[in-house]
Amino acid sequence: MKIHEYQGKEILKKYGVAVPRGIPCFSVDEAVKAAETLGGPVWVVKAQIHAGGRGKGGGVKLARSIDEVRALSGQILGMQLKTHQTGPEGQKVRRLLIEEGADIRKELYVGMVVDRVSQRVCLMASSEGGMDIEEVAAHTPEKIHKVFIDPVAGLTDAECDGVASKIGIPDASLPQARTVLQGLYRAFWETDASLAEINPLILTGDGKVIALDAKLNFDANALFRHPEIVELRDLDEEDPAEIEASKFDLAYIQLDGNIGCLVNGAGLAMATMDTIKLFGGEPANFLDVGGGATTEKVTEAFKIMLRNPNLKAILVNIFGGIMRCDVIAEGVIAASKAVGLKVPLVVRMKGTNEELGRKMLAESGLPIISAETMAEAAQQVVAAAR
Ligand code: ADP
Ligand code: MG
Repeated sequence: MKIHEYQGKEILKKYGVAVPRGIPCFSVDEAVKAAETLGGPVWVVKAQIHAGGRGKGGGVKLARSIDEVRALSGQILGMQLKTHQTGPEGQKVRRLLIEEGADIRKELYVGMVVDRVSQRVCLMASSEGGMDIEEVAAHTPEKIHKVFIDPVAGLTDAECDGVASKIGIPDASLPQARTVLQGLYRAFWETDASLAEINPLILTGDGKVIALDAKLNFDANALFRHPEIVELRDLDEEDPAEIEASKFDLAYIQLDGNIGCLVNGAGLAMATMDTIKLFGGEPANFLDVGGGATTEKVTEAFKIMLRNPNLKAILVNIFGGIMRCDVIAEGVIAASKAVGLKVPLVVRMKGTNEELGRKMLAESGLPIISAETMAEAAQQVVAAAR
């Protein structure tokens, strides 16, 4: 789950990380009032959307007067902000953060993720912070320093000082860098974050170390123990199809292709997408209906897939283990009728009662293409989508 920058900064602040003074706003009037409350001489008007790259897309602007705050807020609020993370359609800006302008001497980068190989939280840090960190990672990876944090010892003072020095923080500012890095680590750990990133972390003219941006993502599997974080969810920022799916406990992720996939089990769903790609097709979604797929769930899954205007064909790939294939067949038939299915449907079922399930599909009178193997199913659905 993602949150906005201003919400991330609130959390980091609780963990002792220094952030600029700022006020979130929903209207131009609020933005003007916020700027007056903060006081000048310089403010930054920042679009709040979940995607990164806002600065380059024109969603972060410096204002040198209250009139400029008003003009820029009017421009940015409501704009369709396009960044390298939003896709070509962009994301509508509904919230702003009005922040005091910082005196930037140097822009640095720090971030944390869970490293699966070492099974530790990895701190990444670079002197090359700001808006081009992706370029740094791609072309000069040696400029990114890593610390794999021991879960028992935590992030030690020595580790903080070592990495802070490597990214160019002067000795006099090392205690502040320690507060930031250890605060970031505690925030990451205690909120069950999957990503915590400060880009840029800045060094100010007078040697302060301040988080100028904040990006926190949380592990959805741990949200049940963080109701205060769930409250920060902004449904305007999420894909409507994915929101709908989450209501029915379906794991659905919209993709760019045109072949809908309805599969039970995440592993089989991944393998199904791979097989489609192997035969030259492009999946329109990832969808795991889970172990207990009922007729209602299958129907909802069909409806969600069919909302996608790019959809050209559907592949249902089911392994009947605990789930019986005849139950799935019943669900597929009922769902196809309920939604008045117009696109070609390929079904491959294996496991318990597969003969019965296939017989039901054949006798349903629906134009369902039955397949034996995954390869056959993928080839048929790719052909059907063409
Ligand atoms: P994004 O990463 O989405 O582009 P940032 O919050 O990192 O958005 O802002 C982009 C750039 O704008 C920063 O790298 C920094 O140079 C500048 N900036 C952001 N906030 C401030 C601020 N409070 N004062 C001065 N400059 C800022
Ligand atoms: Mg940034």
